[in-house]
Amino acid sequence: MPSFAAKCLDCEAHTPYHPLTNSCPECGSEWMEACYDLDAGKFRDATFSDGPASLWRYSELLPLHNPSQYPSIGEGWTPLFPAHQLGMLLGLPNLYIKDERQNPTGSFKDRQAAVTVAALLEHNINEAVICSTGNVAIAFSAAFARAGLKLWAFITSLVPPDKMHEVAIYGSQVIKVTGTYDQAKKLAAQFSLERGLFLDRGVRSITALESMKTIAFEIAEQLSSLQLPTRKPSTWSSPDWYIQAVSGAIGPLGVIKGFQEMHVAGLVDKIPALACIQSAGCAPMAKAWEADLDVAEPVLSPKTHITTLTTGDPGRAYTLLRQRMLEAGGGTIDSVSDEDAFRALSLVAKVEGLSIEPAAAVAFAGLIKLARQGVIHPDDVVVINCSGHTMPVESHLLGPAWSKDISVDDFAFPSHPREGIVAALTQIDQTQMRNVLIIDDQADARRLIRRLLEAQGTFLVDEAESGPIALQLVKQSVPDLIILDLMMPEMDGFALLDLLRAQMPTHDIPIVVVTAKELTSVEWKRLDGRIEQLMTKGDFFVEELVEEIENALSQER
Ligand SMILES: *Cc1c(COP(=O)(O)O)cnc(C)c1O
Ligand SMILES: [Zn+2]
Repeated sequence: MPSFAAKCLDCEAHTPYHPLTNSCPECGSEWMEACYDLDAGKFRDATFSDGPASLWRYSELLPLHNPSQYPSIGEGWTPLFPAHQLGMLLGLPNLYIKDERQNPTGSFKDRQAAVTVAALLEHNINEAVICSTGNVAIAFSAAFARAGLKLWAFITSLVPPDKMHEVAIYGSQVIKVTGTYDQAKKLAAQFSLERGLFLDRGVRSITALESMKTIAFEIAEQLSSLQLPTRKPSTWSSPDWYIQAVSGAIGPLGVIKGFQEMHVAGLVDKIPALACIQSAGCAPMAKAWEADLDVAEPVLSPKTHITTLTTGDPGRAYTLLRQRMLEAGGGTIDSVSDEDAFRALSLVAKVEGLSIEPAAAVAFAGLIKLARQGVIHPDDVVVINCSGHTMPVESHLLGPAWSKDISVDDFAFPSHPREGIVAALTQIDQTQMRNVLIIDDQADARRLIRRLLEAQGTFLVDEAESGPIALQLVKQSVPDLIILDLMMPEMDGFALLDLLRAQMPTHDIPIVVVTAKELTSVEWKRLDGRIEQLMTKGDFFVEELVEEIENALSQER
């Protein structure tokens, strides 16, 4: 087992690690980090790959001597999987989701709680104080309950009641603080000082930062086993980008440290660029990054509904993050509006089947922004941290036609019960349902557009995989609108367009072309005036597609 010590970031003194040591014994600095003997060659992927399917497979690189004291319920080792449909929408074929929702309490804070509680157990500490915007309190409360320790959880009153109730059910003492997160942190610090209790100091807590390293280790190990064809085997793989929603920056600082340690140990050949995304209503780091400042100006009253991300005063965490990003893989710190986050939340649920909380959606909205701006390139390998599970979905996040209501009384004595219900459900508002025919040779592209349209609740969708099949279908029933791909074998979109426009009844049908093709000027001419709209694959979003379809449907030819 490698030795580790607490290293002071200011005077570089090395001292033994103890959870209750809050400052450097040499110079008094509150900024220390764990430091290991990273002798290259000592760490081989083989050492880790036999470990348990949890973050404890990397316990040699955690600040612990005896991690088995902690009654683990499988924190970490969350799945990493390709996001095919979102990737297709964004033109990013190598997009992967690190699904941190699949931790015991539904967010990546479970890593922080598990490693911290393991350290407390090891040092016989049985009572602690934390301050939280919700998820830390939930994760710590669960871990403390399992380990039989007492927790005081300071929570700002802005945290949604559902989250607060979850903290209470684990038996923690909840202290509801009317005020901002930064103010609640000060109260918690004062309380822990007076009582002589351990306080989780967030980004300055060695266990917090170390726990987040395991995200980096897992990504590198899992990416390599997904066998990306362009990577050399035998070592682990770094992605080109790691994307995360950021509040206090524990995640990104830990993740960079993890990649740096793997780099030193020779396990990966590079450190990824980071995209740290903040909520625009509380984005001190994004503002400072844009202005190229190394100190962030605090946001005193956060203006966002996304309470999880309301660290208004990041303090030195920003300065460190910026410094480490600049000396490692680079990247950016950016921000997105609450509205964009809610749109991304809805999109990720519909195209990837993942129900995420608004804070996690901030990362996805950032991904969309950076992909559209071309900051992230189509051939980049991108890993996004899907950091937390959604709370009960509020109805304002749903589309207008999200439910069709039927009453069981209508079906009291049907002669053919199933047909009766099917007929009733498809007849509802039949007048408002529009028939759309998707013509595309790629099944996954058809399926994606179908999903997006059907999720609106007002479209009936048909598919054709080729021009000849489409011609047969329109003979049988004429759709209200056609979505046409240009590049198809047999008969391409241009030839099909000629045939459709040459005859009634398709002569007047609105046609929206969706293509991955760069058009030549000759090709532009062939389309000009004959289609309603042209959209480029990988570059449109649900609302735009739906909006264009609505526009096209309302136009008279
Ligand atoms: C805490 C949290 C974040 C932000 O984490 P930091 O790395 O500390 O900035 C993002 N998403 C969710 C769901 C969180 O709980
Ligand atoms: Zn020091």
